Order: sequence, then C-alpha cells, then structure tokens
Amino acid sequence: MSEAYKITEHYYDVVVVGAGGAGLRATFGMVEKGLKTACISKVFPTRSHTVAAQGGISAALGNMGEDDWRFHMYDTVKGSDWLGDQDAIEYMCKEAIPAVIELERYGVPFSRTPDGKIYQRAFGGMSTHYGKAQAQRTCAAADVTGHAILHTLYQQALKFKAEFFIEYIVLDLIMENGECRGVLAWCLDDGSLHLFRGHQTILATGGYGRTYFSCTSAHTVTGDGNGMVLRAGLPLQDMEFVQFHPTGIYGSGCLMSEGARGEGGYLTNSEGERFMPRYAPQAHDLASRDVVSRAITVEINAGRGLGPKKDFVHLHLEHLDPKVIHERLPGIAETARIFGGVDVTKQPIPVLPTVHYNMGGIPTNYKAEVVTLKDGNPDYVVPGLMAIGETACVSVHGANRLGSNSLLDLVVFGRAAAIRCAELIKPGQPHPALAADGCEQALSRFDKIRHATGSRSTAEIRLDMQTTMQAKAAVFRTAVTLQEGITDITAIAASFEDVRVSDQSLVWNTDLVETLELDNLLGQAQVTMAAAANRQESRGGHAREDFPQRDDDNWLKHTLTWRQDNQVSIDYRPVHLYTLTDEVAAIPPKERVY
Ligand SMILES: Cc1cc2nc3c(=O)[nH]c(=O)nc-3n(C[C@H](O)[C@H](O)[C@H](O)COP(=O)(O)OP(=O)(O)OC[C@H]3O[C@@H](n4cnc5c(N)ncnc54)[C@H](O)[C@@H]3O)c2cc1C
Repeated sequence: MSEAYKITEHYYDVVVVGAGGAGLRATFGMVEKGLKTACISKVFPTRSHTVAAQGGISAALGNMGEDDWRFHMYDTVKGSDWLGDQDAIEYMCKEAIPAVIELERYGVPFSRTPDGKIYQRAFGGMSTHYGKAQAQRTCAAADVTGHAILHTLYQQALKFKAEFFIEYIVLDLIMENGECRGVLAWCLDDGSLHLFRGHQTILATGGYGRTYFSCTSAHTVTGDGNGMVLRAGLPLQDMEFVQFHPTGIYGSGCLMSEGARGEGGYLTNSEGERFMPRYAPQAHDLASRDVVSRAITVEINAGRGLGPKKDFVHLHLEHLDPKVIHERLPGIAETARIFGGVDVTKQPIPVLPTVHYNMGGIPTNYKAEVVTLKDGNPDYVVPGLMAIGETACVSVHGANRLGSNSLLDLVVFGRAAAIRCAELIKPGQPHPALAADGCEQALSRFDKIRHATGSRSTAEIRLDMQTTMQAKAAVFRTAVTLQEGITDITAIAASFEDVRVSDQSLVWNTDLVETLELDNLLGQAQVTMAAAANRQESRGGHAREDFPQRDDDNWLKHTLTWRQDNQVSIDYRPVHLYTLTDEVAAIPPKERVY
C-alpha cells in the first residue's frame, strides 16, 4: 500500500496541463471567458518546446502574392496523404487568418515586407491554385518564430492573471466512471502532492520525440499526456506516423529549419548532384517532409552519402546573400556553427533525417474534445477530457504534417478549447464528490516507482528503447524489422518492472522525474511499433518497403491503439472525408505527386 501522502486539493473550472503554445493559448482564452483556470507545467512556460520552433506559422494571408485558405486546405489534405480529417482541416485553415492577425495584435514581432505587412516565406508542400505554384504562406519572425509566439502568449496569460503551477509534474488523470475529474500532480520544489479538480482537463503536453535516439525535440518532450491516456484505458490514434525532418545536423540532431530551403537552400549528394528534382520534379527541395526524408535515405542507401561512413548529405546556403542569412536565418547560422562547426556563408551543412514531430496522439474532434470508439460509436466524447497541440490527433496532419502547420494547430485549437469550455461550463459550478480512494491508483504507481529497487537504471532502459525505435521504426520499415521491433520493445517495456530509482526524496528528484517520463515513453514506443507493423501500406510518414503503395481500399482509416498489461490492441476510426460548411467541398483521394 502507498505511504500516507498528504494531498492538497484545488478546485478550478478548467485544468490545463502544459504551458507550450497550445496550453497558453487555451489558458488565457479560458480566463478571458470568466473560467477559473489552473495551468500546470513541468517546466517554466517559456522553456516549453514551442520556444524552439524556427520556421514559422502558416496562414493564407496573401501578403506575398495571391492566396486563399482553400488552397491551404488542399495542401494540408494532400500533405496528410488523405488521412487528415477534412472538417478539422477546413476549420484550421479558415481560422488561420484571424488567428495570425490576433497573434500580431497580441504583440508577436513578425518580420516585415518593405510595405510593412507580415513577411511570409515559402515552405514545403505549400502551393497556390491547388498545386500549380509555390505559395509563400509561412509567417515568420526571422527564424525564431516559436520563441516570439511563446513569449507573447505568456505575456497575454500574465495580463489575464492566469494562475500558474510551475515545475509541477502531472502524474495521472483522475478518472471515475469513464469521466475525467482532474489530475494528480507532484510539486518538485517542496515535494508536495496536489489534486487539481476541473470540469474539463485539457492535455497540452506536447509530442513524444524522445522515444527515439536522434530527434530535434527537447529532453522534456516525453509525451506524458499520451502516457496518462494509455494508463486511463483510452486509445491513442495514428501512432505509426512519425515525422522525420529531412535536415537535422549530422551528429547532434539539431534542427536546420525548412525555412533554410524556403529561402533558397538546396541539398546535394556525394556526387555534388542536386538530387531532389529526380524525386519531386516540380517542388524539388520544397516537396513535403516525408518525400524529402525518403529521398535522402535512398541516396544514402545507394552509397551516395558523404563523410567516412557515407551517411549524410549536404544542405547548401553558402550561395545565398549573407544579408538574407543575417536577417532571415540568424539562428540557423548560429546553430550550424555551434553544433556542426560550419560557417554557413562558406560551407555546406552535413544533415540527415531526424525525428521531429508526432502526427499521432490523443484522438479529438475539432472542438478539442477527446473521442474514443465506444459501443460502435467512433466519435464518442470522453466527458471532462480535452487535448490540444502536438499531444492531440485532431487529425489535421493525418499521415504527414506540413511545416508551419503545427504552430497554427496550437493557437487555433487552443482557442477552440476555450470556446468549447465556455459552452460547457458555468463559471464556479460545483464539483461532484470524488470517491475516497479516487487517487489511489495514481498514488500507488507513483509510490511504486519512487521505491523501485530493481537492477536496471533508467538511463539503460531508455537507451535500449531509443536505439530500438531508431533502428526498427525508421524512415523505411518492413514486416521483419517491425516484428523484431515488437519483440524487443515488449521486452524492454517489461524490464521496467526491474527499474532502479536510487533517490527516494520528493524534492527536485530528477532521477524520479526521468523514470516517470520513461514509463510514459515506453507505452508510446510500444503502440507506435505495433501500429506500424499493423498498417500494411505506405502513406505519408509511414513508408513500408514491403507495401510501397498507398491502399485506400483497406487503409483509409485511423488506427486506434490501447495498451494493457504490456500488450497492445488495435481498432479503427473512419477518416472524416467531409467538410463542415458548404464554403468548400471535400477533396477526394488521389495520387500524391510533388
Ligand atoms: C526544433 C523544432 C522546431 C520546430 N519548428 C516549427 C515551426 O517552425 N513551425 C511549426 O509549425 N512547428 C514547428 N515545430 C513543431 C512545434 O513547435 C511543436 O509541435 C509545438 O511547439 C508543440 O507545442 P505544444 O504546445 O503542443 O507542446 P510543447 O511546446 O512541447 O509544451 C508542452 C508543455 O507541456 C508541459 N508538460 C508536459 N508533460 C507534463 C507533465 N507531466 N506535467 C506538467 N506539465 C507537463 C511542459 O512543461 C510544456 O509546458 C518545431 C518543433 C521542433 C522540435
């Protein structure tokens, strides 16, 4: 039985977990609507991974030439390889325009055109007139757009006097009769435990890039919300779709933004050949990310990589006017210098595909409500629970996310969550009583891990998981590697029973934090591997060498994965191939060519 922990109770209308772009936009939206809201974050808000976003945020403003949100919708559906839900994509692309203008009014210091409009750069997979010409749609604040947006959103949250609980680790959802009643959290600063009750709990906990060895995400990107959802007996959706960014710096994995190619950068192989035109005759280096990552992998596998191991390609910026680099890509130049030892005005940058984004996550509708398959209903809303941002699978990105559509997703669905909560909750309405043992399950898990005395260190198990994911659920996958992956990951996850935590204290115990995060990562690694082995087709970020074609007859559907007792079970939800309004028609599936 768990040690007698003292738990402090807090009552809010809404509890938001996460203070990245999604969590902050939702939080002050709630407060603005008169809802008493707690925002809980394991890191200081402006240290959330959103701060690292470089390239920009998409919206069809048309500041650099003709554009239309319907073109943006077309590109996003095509980019998603038709796995995206078109009602949600319509909503996002249409709302993008007011959302970005709103950000500007809040104070985001966007770069400017000579006549003072928001500067927009070219990004992969973005076109006008339904694929006819490259669009300049990505609104940028130099190459530090995420930094600019996150700080502005935090300032807005402070202006609205939102209540923050910073450096609190949320451990688990508190569920009762299939409804979410709030969360249990651990305060790192003084070791105290807290029950946060909310009529709605909003998970905005970000992606799970750290299941892999080489990724562009911060070390805190461990998909804690996804882990909690799996433990609550709810499914995750489309976890087989992991985005590899084509240009992580060789060795460190640090990101070289797509904005670098948007400003005119290009890739070459060991023969000095610009190879992308062979793979994407029209879009070249600005094809969508899955296409470019596969092309690089094919080049490397064919022996046309560079370096002693022939295992990277070159990204060139040295032909660009140094003024462009100074004004538009200063962060890229600095990162390449520090992590690649390269002066980008003189030398090419060694790059290779690196895990960057998770299309999969907690299934939701476009109002941010968490949904699941229940009694044959694929859109059953889980009462009291919402998810937004990278942890959610709305699904606007489907099988492949287009660059600059994530920052957009954060603000559009952060706002949508606030709108929905204002409809559902009367400020100050009473909370139903919680059973006396309501927190017991969450507590005993916490206590068990805290006192774990096994033989394997957290770092050892984590490294096993990360190298297995990197090797077996890579850019290209086959039944053989994936089956090996399932066997290995299942064994590694089982070995967590034998983990050792050497520090039992409750104050700033980073050993315990990392072990709790590892527990979350393991579940996600397992469902990712199982979903990838299960989907026998190639679509977007999921490229099967043994099933190279997209197969709409059998696989135009979302994967749902549950995890119980270290085993994964699988079912499906239909893709929404319809729109919300008659302002735009649904886009029927067709072949995807760039
Ligand atoms: C290097 C990099 C560059 C990128 N560039 C772009 C770009 O230019 N354009 C674009 O559109 N997208 C970009 N992306 C993707 C995009 O930035 C992310 O998808 C997005 O920022 C995720 O935001 P989020 O609010 O969902 O989560 P995050 O910003 O990751 O925030 C997660 C929050 O949850 C909190 N949290 C997590 N677990 C817990 C817990 N257990 N308890 C309490 N709090 C918790 C954290 O403290 C944090 O506040 C980039 C991503 C990376 C890694």
